[in-house]
Amino acid sequence: YHAKKKGNSYLFFNDTMNRQAVKRLQIENLMRFGLKENHFEVYYQPKMNIRTGKLTGMEALVRFITPKKGIISPGVFIPIAEETGQIIEIGEVVLNKACRDVKQWLDDGLFSGRVAVNLSAKQFSLPDLTTRIDVILQKNELPSYFLELEITEGTVMDDPQEAIAIMRSLSARGIHLAMDDFGTGYSSLAYLKQFPLNTLKVDKAFIDDMKTERGRNMVDSIVTIAQNLDLHVVAEGVEQANQIEILKKLNCETVQGYYYSKPLSKDEFTAFLKQQQSKSAPSLISANKHL
Ligand code: C2E
Ligand code: MG
Ligand code: MG
Ligand code: MG
Repeated sequence: YHAKKKGNSYLFFNDTMNRQAVKRLQIENLMRFGLKENHFEVYYQPKMNIRTGKLTGMEALVRFITPKKGIISPGVFIPIAEETGQIIEIGEVVLNKACRDVKQWLDDGLFSGRVAVNLSAKQFSLPDLTTRIDVILQKNELPSYFLELEITEGTVMDDPQEAIAIMRSLSARGIHLAMDDFGTGYSSLAYLKQFPLNTLKVDKAFIDDMKTERGRNMVDSIVTIAQNLDLHVVAEGVEQANQIEILKKLNCETVQGYYYSKPLSKDEFTAFLKQQQSKSAPSLISANKHL
């Protein structure tokens, strides 16, 4: 930096800025290399129905696995990828792999629900978004029925009218839409009603807050809003058995969280699906025993 350095605090500030800029640049370069070398993998976290104990769907979550720096968390690289625009290419890798994996689970008779894929604001506002998605679905021979896209309030509140048009074109294809991290952004109820959504995902912060009565009332209110708008509700970041009990009382049936499972690699998730299948067909197994 060519600015004159006056005093220690100014120097320190400049140093921090420099270190951050260097770190950013390092990650940007790692991502460019990682895109070439296929270092982005997709993990899957189950969404479970707490009444039946059955799998209802899963969320695809990107994992950046570098040979030299190990696993870099999405919390670190996604914001940088958003800024540099690399999120568009990363997002396509994730969507492509998620469609490929779900197609295989479908063909193997292991799963016939939807996979939820996170869509960044940059991807959402691509003028050819729907074409790009169509191409990926076609390439993987996956009907759009099996896809759900998760978007955040920030993504759609930038230009709500434009967002409604984009959401409608996705929805018209049979793609489901979920509002992710609901309650942490600044979307208004007036818009919530107009967005062609299928699902509200209640942010983990609200689930953590269920320790207090006020917190439980908040989740109760969100679930009620969702029900009045005919939306499915998913509780995010559920870790404890007592949270499951509370959510049952609040009529929130679908949960995602470490309580059931962390995000799993493709192979781990395949094993999870097989285990689910053997659980849900006990009569078949016991019938076979008598043969
Ligand atoms: P998100 O979409 O809200 O995903 C849920 C995050 O919560 C995931 O973190 C998941 O691992 C974590 N989580 C789930 N259950 C629990 C729990 O019980 N306890 C705790 N402590 N955490 C739990 P992850 O995978 O680190 O992803 C963080 C965020 O990065 C995501 O939040 C999403 O905003 C973004 N992200 C992840 N994958 C993608 C992607 O493929 N594309 C885009 N655009 N963003 C992504
Ligand atoms: Mg998500
Ligand atoms: Mg979320
Ligand atoms: Mg989140």
